[in-house]
Amino acid sequence: MPTNQALFERAQRVIPGGVNSPVRAFRAVGGTPRFIARAQGAYMWDAEGTQYIDYIGSWGPMILGHGHPEVLEAVQKAAVDGFSFGAPTEREVELAEAILSHVPSAEQVRLVSSGTEAGMSAIRLARGATGRSKIIKFEGCYHGHADALLVKAGSGLATFGHPTSAGVPPEVVQHTMVLEYNNVEQIEQAFATQGGEIACVMIEPIAGNMNFVRASVPFIRRIRELCDQHGALFVFDEVMSGFRVALGSAQSLYAQAIPGFRPDISVFGKVIGGGMPLAAFASTRAIMEKLAPLGPVYQAGTLSGNPVATACGLTTLKLISQPGFFEALGQRTQTLVSGLTQAATEAGLSFCGDSQGGMFGFFFAPELPQHYQAVMAKGTDTFNRFFHLMLEQGVYLAPAMYEAGFVSAAHSEADIQRTIEAAQVAFKALG
Ligand code: PMP
Repeated sequence: MPTNQALFERAQRVIPGGVNSPVRAFRAVGGTPRFIARAQGAYMWDAEGTQYIDYIGSWGPMILGHGHPEVLEAVQKAAVDGFSFGAPTEREVELAEAILSHVPSAEQVRLVSSGTEAGMSAIRLARGATGRSKIIKFEGCYHGHADALLVKAGSGLATFGHPTSAGVPPEVVQHTMVLEYNNVEQIEQAFATQGGEIACVMIEPIAGNMNFVRASVPFIRRIRELCDQHGALFVFDEVMSGFRVALGSAQSLYAQAIPGFRPDISVFGKVIGGGMPLAAFASTRAIMEKLAPLGPVYQAGTLSGNPVATACGLTTLKLISQPGFFEALGQRTQTLVSGLTQAATEAGLSFCGDSQGGMFGFFFAPELPQHYQAVMAKGTDTFNRFFHLMLEQGVYLAPAMYEAGFVSAAHSEADIQRTIEAAQVAFKALG
């Protein structure tokens, strides 16, 4: 049996950093990444046969847990009928209908293969539909690795961002403005000075790429008003929150607090593919008709609407649409977060957490941060030690402080209790 270490060494010879997506390399927390051999329900097993309770769930998609029998059957059946045709299928229509039935803000949807593709296409669509170039994003929100979105804030509010990656020319991000999350004053100022040039404001409504931070209701309400006043589009990136925090996604929660609230464009991924490469962007018919072949905004994909991926997504959506699914998932996730909080407090640690549906976050801090700088202010030492103490006890949390966690329907009450007990041990060691 090869060890994780041996596999990592072998991987590093042929794959940059040994991984196909950077966070998997454990750079933030140190140590050797676990090479996963298989997964079932709430558990994963690494190459050495060690079992873990999985709180990553492939970074969100595995809301039913791994290997749900109905999903597996649908995928197997679809695979027998053909992997990919490059021609339309009935199943993509069914999936489009299923997605739209839960998203009243959208009338049409286009399927793609990754969240990056969906986010990039949403921006192009917003620019094409408005005829404007400038976009606003918020520090700490991740929308995939398209060039124009790999940006950090410039020195002043009026200045545009700087690339956060080599290989992105400054000219490519000159139209991207990066503002502070939950800062109403900044976005008001941005619209006051350049409102007529802004194509869209893009946001993770519940941000999962800076741990777990909610956009405040007044913040979302104000952005909606400003977009309406200035003719800009409001883009909700729900790649992570979509069908994860609620069946109607995060937008349904904001619509409860802000009567009539709707984003203009929604971006989905992760859960809608149930673990297969599938993502989507959706909007009103008037906006979506700007897309090729009907309109001038080009967008395409060889594997878009893939028949095996759509089978997986469709069955996943069907199962999570059952009455009571999100109530149960939300309760289980809350039990985890309150158990962790209590255990940390008993150990004398400063700790807080939050969750919505099957998504959660926690901080070694007395109160929930409201934006990226506050998330990062704490330093990563305590979290990194906690991560390894948990991993040693068979609990697999996201290997970085600035990532959200995920609970699935397969996580039992006993799994949650076992996790809290492991945390008691870890917190004691930390305290
Ligand atoms: N948007 C958000 C909110 C995400 O969390 C992610 C991925 N974590 C993406 C976009 C990009 O998706 P993908 O990794 O599928 O390209």
